Amino acid sequence: MRHTKVKDLLNSTTTLQEVNAKGWVRTFRNNQFIALNDGSTINNIQCVVDFENTPDEMLKRITTGAAVSVTGTLVESKGAGQKFEIQVAKLEILGDSDAEKFPIQPKNKPSLDFLRENAHLRVRTNIFGAIMRVRSVLSYAVHSYFQEKGFVYVNTPIITGSDAEGAGEMFKVTALPFDGTPRKEDGKVDYKEDFFGKETNLTVSGQLEGETFAMALGQVYTFGPTFRAENSNTSRHLAEFWMIEPEVAFNDLDDNMDLAEEFIQYVIKYTLEKCPEDLKFLETRLLEEEKAKPQAERSELALLDKLNFVLENNFKRVSYTEAIDILRNCTPNKKKKFNYIINEWGADLQSEHERYLVEKHFKCPVILFDYPANIKAFYMRLNEDGKTVRAMDILFPGIGEIVGGSQREERLDVLVEKMKALGIDEEELWWYLDTRRFGSAVHSGFGLGFERLVLFVTGMTNIRDVIPFPRTPMNAEF
Ligand code: ATP
Ligand code: MG
Ligand code: MG
Ligand code: MG
Repeated sequence: MRHTKVKDLLNSTTTLQEVNAKGWVRTFRNNQFIALNDGSTINNIQCVVDFENTPDEMLKRITTGAAVSVTGTLVESKGAGQKFEIQVAKLEILGDSDAEKFPIQPKNKPSLDFLRENAHLRVRTNIFGAIMRVRSVLSYAVHSYFQEKGFVYVNTPIITGSDAEGAGEMFKVTALPFDGTPRKEDGKVDYKEDFFGKETNLTVSGQLEGETFAMALGQVYTFGPTFRAENSNTSRHLAEFWMIEPEVAFNDLDDNMDLAEEFIQYVIKYTLEKCPEDLKFLETRLLEEEKAKPQAERSELALLDKLNFVLENNFKRVSYTEAIDILRNCTPNKKKKFNYIINEWGADLQSEHERYLVEKHFKCPVILFDYPANIKAFYMRLNEDGKTVRAMDILFPGIGEIVGGSQREERLDVLVEKMKALGIDEEELWWYLDTRRFGSAVHSGFGLGFERLVLFVTGMTNIRDVIPFPRTPMNAEF
C-alpha cells in the first residue's frame, strides 16, 4: 500500500478505513502513542498502538528517531490539538534508532549551538524542519516574482577570472593534475597555468556578468551560490551563501529602490500565505525566548506582526548625508555611546549606526542612498555633485544590511577614469567595458543575501541556523 503524507492525512475531510504512513518517531508516550513526523508538516500525527497485543520486543524498538511504517484506520481524535489519529493495525520498524546514542532527544531540549554541530540531524527537529520548509518556499517565491515580471534567469559563472569587486575576500580555484603527473619540465606543477591559463576564483557576485546580460535581455536575475572568505565570525556572514541579483536596463536608482521594495514585500507575502503553520510555530518559539529576556530587551513585535508590518509600510528612504546628521546629533543610549562616533562626512557606517537608524530612530526598514563615492565600489554612477554615488543599502530591523545595490556608471570615460584611480586593470575587464562601448544605457541592480532574508522571515538570529550546512572559518565538517 502506498503511504500518504502526514500533512494530507491531517487535512483529510473524512475518516478512512485503511491508511499507511511512513516517517520518524518523535516521541513514544505511555507505550501507546507515537508522535510520527514525515517532514511534510510541522505537525506530527498521533498513532495509537495496541500495546496489549504488541510484543514487548517490538515496543522497545519504538524509539525517538526510528523510521517506522504504520498501517491502520484514520479516525477522529478525541485528544486536543489534532483532528485525526491513526489506530494502528500493523506496525513495522523500518530502521532502528539506538535510543542511548541518538543525539536529538526532544526531552533534552538541545541548544542551537549543540544542533549546529549536528547539522545532518538537526533537520529532524521541529524548528529546523520549519526553517527549511520556509527557506524552500522563499526560494520558490524569488523565482515566482521575477518570472511573473518577465525577468530572464541567468546562471552567472561560479568560477570567475577577474577580481572585479576588489574586496580581496576570494577563494582561489586550483585544479589537481588529471593524472597526477607533473606537466612542467622542471617537475613543478603550476595548476593555475595548467588549467585555465590564468588565476581564477569562486564568484563573490554575479553582478558584472549580469550587467552584460541585462544590456541585451533587458531584465535579468541571478540566484546562486556566492563565496566570500570572510575572516570574521559574525552572526550575519557565511563563507558560502546564496545571493539574488536582479539587473535592469533603463532603470535608475529610484526604479531600483521600487523594485527591491516590491520584491521583498512579494516574497514575504507569498511565504506568509504558504507557510502559516511553520511561521506560527516559529513565532511561538520566539515568544518563549523573549519571555526569558529582561523587559527592556524584548522585541516589541511578534514574528507575524513584524512580517505584516513590512508589508503594510513603505521603507523609509534617507540619503547618507541626512543619516550622518541624525547620527551626529543623536544620543543613542544614556549609558553607552557608539563605540565609533561619526564626526566627518565620508565615514563608512558601522553596523551599530545602521541598527540605530533602523531600530531606534525610524523603527522600520530603511533605504540609505547616495553614499560617498570613496566608500563604494568602482562601478557605481557618480552623481552630479562629483562626491556621491547612486548607491543604496537596505537595512532591516534585527538584521542590518540585507541589500546592497546601485545605478551603474554608464559613461565609459567616467568609468575608466575611476578604474584608473583605483588601480583596476582595464585590460582585465575589457569585456565589462564593452557594455559601455556598444549601446551603453542607464541600468541598475542589487544584491540581496538570501540567508539574511531567511533570517528575517524566520525570526532566527544566527545565519548558521538558516542554511543547511553552514560554511564559516574553521567549519566545513559536513
Ligand atoms: P556586509 O556589509 O554585511 O559585509 P556587503 O556590503 O559586504 O555586506 P554586498 O557586497 O553589498 O555585501 O553584497 C550584497 C548582499 O549580500 C548584502 O547586502 C548581504 O545581504 C549579502 N551578503 C554579503 N556578504 C555576505 C556573507 N558573507 N554572508 C551572507 N550574506 C552576505
Ligand atoms: Mg562584506
Ligand atoms: Mg555592507
Ligand atoms: Mg553592501
